Amino acid sequence: MEGALTARDRVGIQDFVLLDETTDAAFLSNLKKRFSNDLIYTYIGTLLVSVNPYKELDIYNKKQMDIYMGVNFFELPPHIYALADNAYHTMLTEFNNHFILISGESGAGKTEASKKILQYYAVSCPSTTLLNTVRDKMLMSNPVLEAFGNAKTLKNDNSSRFGKYMDIQFNSEGDAVGGHILNYLLEKSRVVHQNHGERNFHIFYQLVVGASDDLLHQLGLERDCQHYTYLTQGECAIVSSINDNNDWKTVKNALQVIEFDEIDTNHLFGIVASVLHLGNIQFECDSKGHVLLSNNNAELRWVSNLLGVDAHTLQEGLTFRKLEAKKDQVLSPFTIDHAIYARDALAKAIYGQTFTWLVNKINESMENKDPSRKMIIGLLDIYGFEVFYVNSFEQFCINYCNEKLQQLFIQLTLKAEQEEYEAENIEWEPVQFFNNKIICDLIEERHRGIISILDEECLRPGDATDLTFLERLEEKMGNHPHFVTHKLADKMTRKTLERGDFRLLHYAGEVTYCVVGFLDKNNDLLYRNIKDLMCHSKNAIVRECFSTMDPDSRKRPETVATQFKSSLLKLTEILVAKEAWYIRCLKSNESKQSGQFDEALIRHQVKYLGLMEHLRVRRAGFAYRRKYEIFLKRYKPLCPATWPHWRGEPADGVEILVQHLGYLPHEYKMGRTKIFIRHPRTLYATEDAYEK
Ligand code: ATP
Ligand code: MG
Repeated sequence: MEGALTARDRVGIQDFVLLDETTDAAFLSNLKKRFSNDLIYTYIGTLLVSVNPYKELDIYNKKQMDIYMGVNFFELPPHIYALADNAYHTMLTEFNNHFILISGESGAGKTEASKKILQYYAVSCPSTTLLNTVRDKMLMSNPVLEAFGNAKTLKNDNSSRFGKYMDIQFNSEGDAVGGHILNYLLEKSRVVHQNHGERNFHIFYQLVVGASDDLLHQLGLERDCQHYTYLTQGECAIVSSINDNNDWKTVKNALQVIEFDEIDTNHLFGIVASVLHLGNIQFECDSKGHVLLSNNNAELRWVSNLLGVDAHTLQEGLTFRKLEAKKDQVLSPFTIDHAIYARDALAKAIYGQTFTWLVNKINESMENKDPSRKMIIGLLDIYGFEVFYVNSFEQFCINYCNEKLQQLFIQLTLKAEQEEYEAENIEWEPVQFFNNKIICDLIEERHRGIISILDEECLRPGDATDLTFLERLEEKMGNHPHFVTHKLADKMTRKTLERGDFRLLHYAGEVTYCVVGFLDKNNDLLYRNIKDLMCHSKNAIVRECFSTMDPDSRKRPETVATQFKSSLLKLTEILVAKEAWYIRCLKSNESKQSGQFDEALIRHQVKYLGLMEHLRVRRAGFAYRRKYEIFLKRYKPLCPATWPHWRGEPADGVEILVQHLGYLPHEYKMGRTKIFIRHPRTLYATEDAYEK
């Protein structure tokens, strides 16, 4: 009928599982309809799809939180609060641990999503005054870590440049009693180099713009970002969407909430300032070709002053290399390039170590003081998949991390789901999906993967360079379907590749990496005499940071990529032991504009995130499953035949129970050890009966 549009026609449907057809076009059209009505959330079963609106929506407030609290998942319009609440209540009823995996490319809205979830728990869980302080600390850890770990990139004005996994710990009453953060691979190279249109970490600009005149004076800083080499390479120190002055105030306040005392705070800002001074140290050669500091040593004095180390020894460390020959020590002068390398390595090391120190300090302050048994909801917000014009070691690590998370998603949903139906003897039409394990292997396999080959080149004495690394890759990866270089490519592809590049066909698309800097960044070496010097710093934070680096050890430290690989492995172990919830964030357009729904861009993300496959598995499958024992234990009061005791097989008890409840044959299936319920609606009716 003309003009009589149904709600479904106008605003789309809330759960993709209920779509009439599972084509890409139908999926996209539904998403678009909802997006144009400011409905950014849609479900695929219990998975939440979110599209970045690039504008403030009036849906994140106490009133909305109250609406979603304790309500059955599908009874209200999709919302991130509904997912947070569902995880929370499942945890409380089943006494188990959960995690929420938030994924999507850079700028898709992962960090915003994780903040909304944390706020939901902070506001809506029961509270006491004592617990309120823990909660405030958890909330306030965000602005601090964002100041030190986020930066403006070409993709996102507040891009996370580190990975973050946060445990929120609850006691059996459901109070949030503590938190713990694990951080992953901070992009330290940003401290000393930024691409055009990008910035260094926010904290530097916040300090220069926001600090009081007194503080700047104490730190020897000018109130002018343009004065600092480390702040100006991207030529965009000032950004309209960022208010460094306000953010500075927020960070200062947050540091107080997480109980940083004055000494720690002074030391911390001293370190930030020292990095800016370091960046302004320049070098030149004297007539004998020896390297010298060019600017009258004022910057050097500030660095030594702020870091609490001897100026002369620092200067020596930046211009000479200490060689140990038998019992003698010989000083060998640097070239200018070496001196710059040593200076930048120090800046990166100081900043990177301080970041880890900061995370530890925040963890101490959020520590759970309640010894009773705790349950956990973990929140994972890691840097998204990214492709720039030039991609380097950092993008390689970030994209590798995204491959691993996609692999986990595949294992826990698509693969596990289908294997479970098989194991439980449930009839099932298999769904095809792309398994990215082949790419994970290409990167991480022992002895054969890219990381192993990179490590070998890093450890090989003699003439190893970025280019010999590339040659080794070509030898070993020659005909791998997801790997190509200029030399290996066919004629057409060759035109799109430079000689120093290799290209990986990631699950999310092709990325061309430039090998320049791979060896250095993976080695991440700091000259030993500089390390020794820092261990004796008068700045307590610096001393603590560098002492833990084990300066005396003759053993070569693990390379960056290998450390990262092991930390991702540990993370996977932490996650698989918990029940998973997923939020898939989609970027609506590349220009960060509200109201723009770039269909091609979104279609691409829907494809690589595997949303269609997930939908097909969900539609063909069962939303809910529980072991017979658990199901029976909870619902047996609803049926006289099973209450108070059922003496027979649990499966038989469940069969009697659900027949008594009026389940229709197509609504459920009995597996070997579990009952499978097709739609959550069915279970909610049972749950409602139980509540009454
Ligand atoms: P990265 O991988 O680079 O860290 P990200 O996925 O964490 O990216 P966010 O920083 O969460 O991306 O989001 C980028 C920007 O998009 C935010 O700064 C904000 O302006 C906007 N945005 C994201 N989610 C929302 C939302 N739910 N409502 C309004 N704006 C949003
Ligand atoms: Mg982020």
